[in-house]
Amino acid sequence: MRLILLGPPGAGKGTQASVIIKEYNIPHISTGDIFRANIKEGTELGKKAKEYMDKGLLVPDELVVSIVKDRLTEDDCKEGFLLDGFPRTVNQGEALDEELKQMSLELDKVININVEKEVLIQRAIGRRICRDCGATYHVKFNPPKKEGICDVCGGELFQRDDDKVETVKKRIKVYHEQTEPLIDYYTKKGLILNVDGTKPIDAIFEEISEALQG
Ligand code: ADP
Ligand code: ADP
Ligand code: ZN
Repeated sequence: MRLILLGPPGAGKGTQASVIIKEYNIPHISTGDIFRANIKEGTELGKKAKEYMDKGLLVPDELVVSIVKDRLTEDDCKEGFLLDGFPRTVNQGEALDEELKQMSLELDKVININVEKEVLIQRAIGRRICRDCGATYHVKFNPPKKEGICDVCGGELFQRDDDKVETVKKRIKVYHEQTEPLIDYYTKKGLILNVDGTKPIDAIFEEISEALQG
């Protein structure tokens, strides 16, 4: 299964990704996670990406596209993959199409998670992530059993630098301007699966898995 998760910041892409990849046994390719790992390791790429991420802006296409192209040629992508947070511009979408064409592969679906702005802001500012395993929680909507501690691995939970209210608002604006045109792009290709992201986490996953089977 070759899938893309599309949706504004805080829509629940990462949350759904963590269950979808188990169901279909495919790798989770999150460009945001790749950048955060590079920032943590202090790489050149990390340093460059952080300048944009801290401002709520997109990292330039040329820094993103080559990373994803390389990642898609790795062995674990043979049976499929789940792209989360990529593509984020029509230009990235076209670059992906070109790469898939060269690999003689096609996308199965683009899952578009819809959530209105006010809810997105509440979700992003309450988001907490495990330092060790990357599991995602929400202080109100999906809290861990023990405050500040990961249910899965016992790791410490932290808040992303870019999950501050002003940066989140900027990211939502950038989403409307630069990423939303991809909905049209993939609708024309007949690939869009629209889901209501305001439902409970389990109900959204059920809707997605039923649609993918059908
Ligand atoms: P969210 O899922 O909350 O939108 P991500 O973890 O996907 O956040 O992305 C965090 C930040 O990383 C983005 O705001 C952007 O600066 C950068 N980023 C991630 N993926 C891309 C991409 N495909 N193109 C450009 N920038 C990206
Ligand atoms: P994205 O990857 O799209 O930025 P996340 O999956 O990280 O979004 O989710 C953003 C925040 O919203 C997290 O704190 C997560 O726990 C919470 N969340 C995700 N899905 C739901 C949902 N269906 N209902 C309520 N909260 C949710
Ligand atoms: Zn953990």
